[in-house]
Amino acid sequence: MSFQRNRSQQRRHIKPIKRNELQCILSAQRSKDGKSSVKFEQEQIEWDKKWNSDKVTYCLTKDSKDIENDAGEWKAVWLAMNTWSLEIPLTLQLVKKDKNPDITIEFADSYEEPIFKDNTDMLAFAHFPGTPEQGTIKLNEDKLWSLDGKFLGFNKTYNMVHTLVHEIGHALGLTHAAPKFSLGSVMSTNYNGTLQLSNNDIDRIVAKYDEKPGRNSKNYKDTKKELLDQIKNLKILK
Ligand SMILES: [Zn+2]
Repeated sequence: MSFQRNRSQQRRHIKPIKRNELQCILSAQRSKDGKSSVKFEQEQIEWDKKWNSDKVTYCLTKDSKDIENDAGEWKAVWLAMNTWSLEIPLTLQLVKKDKNPDITIEFADSYEEPIFKDNTDMLAFAHFPGTPEQGTIKLNEDKLWSLDGKFLGFNKTYNMVHTLVHEIGHALGLTHAAPKFSLGSVMSTNYNGTLQLSNNDIDRIVAKYDEKPGRNSKNYKDTKKELLDQIKNLKILK
């Protein structure tokens, strides 16, 4: 008889997660009118660690079965990454799965991810830099995902891009926005559907990673507008 555990058994015996190693229990709540809203966990103090390199690689290691538009899904990841990298000198580079990416984005259901099994309301989570599982972002595949957050038939869907922008913020080292800065913030504990960073989001990521040169240039503003347009047009991307 072997005492070697298989992988799934090992997963079930992982040590309980320390609360400060990951953030975001985006609770999925459905209001009476059928519209879902997203409620984030309470904010914490600023996380003091970050990625200490010029380049951080990433990959969508497992996509969602809900989204048929694979190109759109990859683009969603790319746009969410670029939303942050536009502000800071850190290069965020897409690599293949077998290149050992620093940040991995994975859709997993409650059978594959015990955290979702224990927290069925959780939409997604991310581990902070400087922790053993840094760069791990998981989205709950038991929820219904889309590229625009609109209804699919009678079902409200969750916007993959918005969730990713928020989770990537955590993966880069940001905690939730303080209440007085939460209006319009993608790191807000209150979902407001915004797809661009607030001034406070930008101030915080710049304080951590420094400012990207040319942030006041016309090129920066044009690129930012283009990024937002592309996010809005994701659904119809072919
Ligand atoms: Zn969060």
